[in-house]
Amino acid sequence: MNKAASALEIFFLIIAIDGPAGAGKSTVAKALATRLGFKYVDTGAIYRAVTLKVMNEGLDLEDEEAVCKLIDKTKIELKYVNSKLTVLLDEVDVTVEIRSQSVTNKIFFVSNKASIRSRLIRHQKDCASGVNAVVEGRDIGTVIFPDAEKKFFLNADVNVRAKRRYSELAGNDPAAELNRILEDIKRRDKNDSTRQVAPLMKVEDAISIDTTNLAPEEVVDSICKNLDMK
Ligand code: C5P
Repeated sequence: MNKAASALEIFFLIIAIDGPAGAGKSTVAKALATRLGFKYVDTGAIYRAVTLKVMNEGLDLEDEEAVCKLIDKTKIELKYVNSKLTVLLDEVDVTVEIRSQSVTNKIFFVSNKASIRSRLIRHQKDCASGVNAVVEGRDIGTVIFPDAEKKFFLNADVNVRAKRRYSELAGNDPAAELNRILEDIKRRDKNDSTRQVAPLMKVEDAISIDTTNLAPEEVVDSICKNLDMK
């Protein structure tokens, strides 16, 4: 790049938020993005949409090569409609469907595989390119945006996390049960933090926030304090 071009380079801010299921990442990341006027990027929705597509196509979830090929011809878009995140899979709204228990139970087939994860890196980066963004997931501070300006790692007591997930799901799924959700969260915690590729972990330069006894707005306040913003 020549000098003139580099002088014109514009930098965008990335705030990375990682943590386990139910730690409050989505609620907090959305509220933070709204407060700062940043774009909100939910990377879990991308893993969920890929899993749904593989299930809909009747492909073998163990067939890594076939899943990679499928990803190459799949369009996933994260859009804001009336300030709510809408997930479009090949232009079809799957926002609710990707949160179903059947999708959640099968995500690990997709999220544990190195070749699939590397196919999805570009997609995640593209979602946050050319904008200031709050990006949430499991490996944002470690793999997707290791140079993010600020990194946060949210966590909370597992029983509190299960209750939060239950309240979120109960509206859409009358069959939701607290005990089943608790077991699901424990299973996902174990899988996400022990998998070989891009495991869930707090990177050294991330700021930890325990959200067990905090309301979402208090977490957003705490993050903003750390960003030196009121
Ligand atoms: O955030 P959410 O609970 O929707 O994520 C669903 C699953 O997608 C996680 O349990 C994890 O296995 C996977 N995931 C991931 N890396 C990300 C985001 C999500 O492996 N950056």
